[in-house]
Amino acid sequence: MEIYKKYRDKKLVTQIADAIRELTPNRRVKFVHICGSHEQTITRFGIRSLLPNNLEIFSGPGCPVCCTPATEIDESIELAERGCIVTTFGDMFCVPGTKKSLSDAKTNGADVRIVYGISDAVKAARNNPKREVVHVAIGFETTAPTTAAEVLRGLPENFSLLVCHRLMPPVMQFLLASGETALDGFICPGHVSTIIGSKPYEPLSRRYKVPQVIAGFEPVDVLIAIWILLKQLREGRSEVGIEYTRSVRPEGNVQAQRMMREAFESVDKRWRGFPVIPKSALELRPEFERHDARKRFAIDFSRETSADFVKGCRCGEVLRGLVYPQECPMFDKACTPEHPLGPCAVTAEGACNAAMKPKFDPVLRFKKKGD
Ligand code: SF4
Repeated sequence: MEIYKKYRDKKLVTQIADAIRELTPNRRVKFVHICGSHEQTITRFGIRSLLPNNLEIFSGPGCPVCCTPATEIDESIELAERGCIVTTFGDMFCVPGTKKSLSDAKTNGADVRIVYGISDAVKAARNNPKREVVHVAIGFETTAPTTAAEVLRGLPENFSLLVCHRLMPPVMQFLLASGETALDGFICPGHVSTIIGSKPYEPLSRRYKVPQVIAGFEPVDVLIAIWILLKQLREGRSEVGIEYTRSVRPEGNVQAQRMMREAFESVDKRWRGFPVIPKSALELRPEFERHDARKRFAIDFSRETSADFVKGCRCGEVLRGLVYPQECPMFDKACTPEHPLGPCAVTAEGACNAAMKPKFDPVLRFKKKGD
C-alpha cells in the first residue's frame, strides 16, 4: 500500500493542481479520457474540483460493456434461448439488449453463467461435453489477448465465441475525424496501452495535431497527465507522452500483440452510440471459424435495426464525450445503478454509474455550476 500513498499524497496533489492552474490557457480547454477506470479515479477523488473552471475533463467510449450494441447482446440472448450455455463477465449480465438482458433470459430459464475469465468458460465446456458452450468475448485490447491465448491453445469442439472485442485507436480516430467532439487532448487508457504501447496513437497526434498522454490510475497520475497535456498545448506540441511509465512501454506487449494478430482480424463494426467504425472490432480468423458462434449457429444481428437506448437516455452523447452524465434528465432519478435504464449506469466502468456512486464526493464541479 506504500506506493498508493505516494500517488495519493495531498501535498503533491496540491502542487500539481497549482501547476495546472498556472498552465491553463485563458479559454475553454476540453480533454477526453477513454477509460472507465480513469473516470472512477476522477469522480472518486473529486479531481474535477481541483481544476480551473475552464478546464473540462469528459469521459469517452472507455467502457467496453457500454459500447457493445444492443444487437450483440440480443445475439447472446438468442444463443442462450436456443439452449446453449452462455458464459459472460458479470458486467455484461444486466446490460440491456433490445428487449431484455442476459439476466432476464436467465430468470426465464436460460443457462447463463458468470465467469471471471475465458478459462472458466472453457472449463464449463469440458465439463459439459454434450452441451454447446458460447462465451461472450468482450473488452478492448486489454482482454482480447486472453481470448486469443485460449484460441491458439486449442478450444474444445463444443465451445465457441461470440466475439464482441473492440479496438481503441479506431474509435479515437472517429472522435477526431467527426469533429463533433471538439477536444484539445486525449488522456489515453493505461491498461490498453500496456498491451498496444504508445505507437498506435502517434498517427492521430500527427494527423489531428492533438496532444495525448497515457496515464495511470491514481490521482497523481491523472493530474500529471493533465499537466503534460497543458504543457504540450502551451508549447504548440502534439505528441504521445507516457505518464504511466511503471507499466507502459512504447512498443507495448509484443507477445500479446502477436497472439491477437494470429487469432483475430480487424473488421468494421458499429459501437453503441456510434455508427460503423472502420477496423474497430475483432473477428476470429477464418481458420478458427468453427469456433465463431455467429457462423456456427448462423446468427448475425449486425444488420438488424434496434434502439440502443431507451427514450431520453443520453448514453450515446456521454460515450462520445459530448455531455456529462448529470446532464441526462434521468440521472440518479429514474435511472440508478440498481435500476439502470442505459448501459452507462450498469457497470462500474460506466460514466453514469461512476458519477452516481460517489455520493461522498462533495465537489463534482458541474454540481457547483448548477448551484
Ligand atoms: Fe442513460 Fe441513465 Fe446515463 Fe441517463 S443516467 S444517460 S438514462 S445510463
